[in-house]
Amino acid sequence: TESGQPLVVVKDVQKHYGDFHALKDVNLTVNKGEVVVVIGPSGSGKSTLCRTINRLETITSGSISIDGQELPAEGKALAHLRAEVGMVFQSFNLFAHKTILQNVTLGPIQVLGKKKSEAEAEAMKLLERVGVAHQAQKMPAQLSGGQQQRVAIARALAMHPKVMLFDEPTSALDPEMINEVLDVMVELAAEGMTMIVVTHEMGFARKAANRVVFMADGQIVEEATPEEFFNNPKSARAKDFLSKLL
Ligand code: ADP
Ligand code: MG
Repeated sequence: TESGQPLVVVKDVQKHYGDFHALKDVNLTVNKGEVVVVIGPSGSGKSTLCRTINRLETITSGSISIDGQELPAEGKALAHLRAEVGMVFQSFNLFAHKTILQNVTLGPIQVLGKKKSEAEAEAMKLLERVGVAHQAQKMPAQLSGGQQQRVAIARALAMHPKVMLFDEPTSALDPEMINEVLDVMVELAAEGMTMIVVTHEMGFARKAANRVVFMADGQIVEEATPEEFFNNPKSARAKDFLSKLL
């Protein structure tokens, strides 16, 4: 896929949890190399959208494709397609009983079938890139939250994803650690990684996002450049949301 071509296509997606309508006809196209920030009030469906894109949740109707391939609901093909979507959550979700290095090599060895030596060499490069190579033999609990989240990013990158999803990656971090994670993300964006980032960090959005998508009540209400969105939001919902954020 060339830069600028559609990579993630979410089409007419509905998601119901029982009677609750969590995603209401969501349409979103993210092009290769694009960075999209998703913003909106708590409960608006941002996490649900991320989880459906990675098929951690099934969708009620509609379709989601990655690089032209529709995501199946389940099965072997799903595991492979899911590897194309790197996911970083608010809570770092590292395997507590494995070393930092093992956390990063597990997927490549088990899912991609890489040799241990090869997986380790690559993991060390990634850990270096996010600034935690010196912690490779430690256990997750020995690292700070900011360091653990950078390991989580390295772990996702080790799978060679086509797109990276971040769901409030800095919300659980102490303030002084937020920037060390955002800096890694800004770098990834500059290198051309396709990214969907749920965050309320407006500094990141202004610096790195091509587009801001504003969600409310399970719908995409507004899409704009960060400049347009933060300076001149169009909908009343967005205006209200931003006034509370500032
Ligand atoms: P956000 O990430 O924007 O805060 P979510 O996507 O987590 O919002 O949630 C959207 C809505 O869907 C919320 O009202 C939430 O309570 C509901 N929801 C999320 N997951 C489930 C679930 N597994 N079962 C029922 N309702 C859910
Ligand atoms: Mg959420």
